Amino acid sequence: MDSSTSSPLAALADASLLKTQALINGEWVSGKTTFAVSDPATGAHLADVANLGEQETEAAIAAANKAWIGWRTKTAKERGAILLRWQQLLMKHADDLARIMTAEQGKPLAEAKGEVVYGASFIDWFAEEAKRVYGETIPTTDNNKRYLVIKQSMGVCAAITPWNFPLAMITRKVAPALAAGCTVIIKPAEATPLTALAVAELAQRAGMPAGVLNVLTADAEASIAVGKVICDSDVVRHLSFTGSTEVGRILMRQCAPTVKKLSLELGGNAPFIVFDDADLDSAVEGAMVSKYRNAGQTCVCANRIYVQAGVYDAFVEKLAAKVATLKVGNGFDAGVNVGPLIEEAALVKVETHVADALALGARLLAGGKRAEGLGGTQFFEATLLADATPQMLCSREETFGPVAPVFKFKTEDEVVALATQQHPRALGHGVGDVGFHLGHGGGVDQRALLHAVLQAIADLEAGHRGAELVGKGLVNLLMHIDAVGADAGLAGIAELGNDRAFDSGVQVGVFKHDEGGIAAQLQRKLLDGGRRLRIQQAANLGGAGEAELAHDRVAR
Ligand code: ADP
Repeated sequence: MDSSTSSPLAALADASLLKTQALINGEWVSGKTTFAVSDPATGAHLADVANLGEQETEAAIAAANKAWIGWRTKTAKERGAILLRWQQLLMKHADDLARIMTAEQGKPLAEAKGEVVYGASFIDWFAEEAKRVYGETIPTTDNNKRYLVIKQSMGVCAAITPWNFPLAMITRKVAPALAAGCTVIIKPAEATPLTALAVAELAQRAGMPAGVLNVLTADAEASIAVGKVICDSDVVRHLSFTGSTEVGRILMRQCAPTVKKLSLELGGNAPFIVFDDADLDSAVEGAMVSKYRNAGQTCVCANRIYVQAGVYDAFVEKLAAKVATLKVGNGFDAGVNVGPLIEEAALVKVETHVADALALGARLLAGGKRAEGLGGTQFFEATLLADATPQMLCSREETFGPVAPVFKFKTEDEVVALATQQHPRALGHGVGDVGFHLGHGGGVDQRALLHAVLQAIADLEAGHRGAELVGKGLVNLLMHIDAVGADAGLAGIAELGNDRAFDSGVQVGVFKHDEGGIAAQLQRKLLDGGRRLRIQQAANLGGAGEAELAHDRVAR
């Protein structure tokens, strides 16, 4: 399939997945106005979507609250059956969903299909998991009292989601909430409402009762009003947001009066570290996946690549050779690995970072400018900058584009300082308000993973680097949730958010296939060092942070 045909949406196998109205209380509703959705690859108009406001948001909240009673009194198994049907429908319609996603978001079709599978995986995971929401009994010092903790659904949950993962960010937030018995309101990003609406249509077909899952579409301006009503509402008990740090701050402020539960997943500035004894081919492979996936528009993208002096030249040469093989273009065209950026402002930011780096002495080894002649104006060449320095913007700010700046370092101490200094609050200030995300960028060996974990924990807990270092190698220390799959590991670095992974010490995600190897070693090391560590070995940590959001602890 190539992009030369008319509208990419004309080729949907099931045209009824293309919805342009919002979903409230099981009804498809139009707003007073509409907003246009366009294809970032071509600029072509795709659809006009209902633009909702305050009134419709109030209606959705009321509907979700009304539906809550019926939904929460179903057993977890009954809710799970509906969720499983939904997951199966997402898989059945994966090609169409991917097509809608590539059309409005731009990512290569293969990546979009991968996201459908990844996104769907949260649903069956939590559909099963809800059957095992166990409570606790707590010993008491008073024989007249018994402490019993039960977990129950907390009510209406809202999800404000971004455009970079238009499907998975929805399912990851709402699947645990729905499974637990909560009802949800989704406010998808204005750039990618069509994917959200198709997902909602499939929820309807799966038998989701009216009002249990609602989608409020809104343009950029109306999103602010919708968000305000959600935050102000006493009925909405929880808000989960993924997006920019600035908007996260606004939402947090707005949620203060109702003391709403919040989970925020905000910006990143992930360092990717390559030591002298790394397997360079594996390191390059990892860097490629980590940096250029989704055209660099993910919060877990390696924003800064630190390479030790002994392998610096060899690494840069190998990376340059790989970057030269990347094909930029329309996500529907065969062989394309880097699609368009989401909007003009994103290109301007990338251009600014490149110009600043070059002015401050970086060497341009690939790309560096807008890609022309690809049928649109929002393409940027896959770019590689060597000899980057901490003074450059790309070191301090999230680039969110296909630009890889490579920094040289000599010692381990130096790189730990460099990698962490960008987040002054992130490391070395105690565990209470910080954590770190450890991501698997592909091809990262477990020894290296362990190394990174230990080192960061040492910094976090002791305020200095005290942990015995287990080995060296390629370390991909990402300051965000890694999105490798439903079984990706995570812990979290602070400013990124406040999900529950951080509320009781450091939690470390390990990989499903690890069978406890890393977990066991870590636990031994940390216990030896007298540190407290909760290791979550659940196979699906990607959404674990969201899970408890759906529950209040109630002591009786
Ligand atoms: P990005 O910069 O990556 O586009 P944003 O934080 O602007 O990220 O957007 C993420 C989501 O937050 C989108 O769904 C957007 O519509 C929504 N949003 C942006 N501003 C607000 C706001 N003031 N209140 C509520 N939602 C908002």
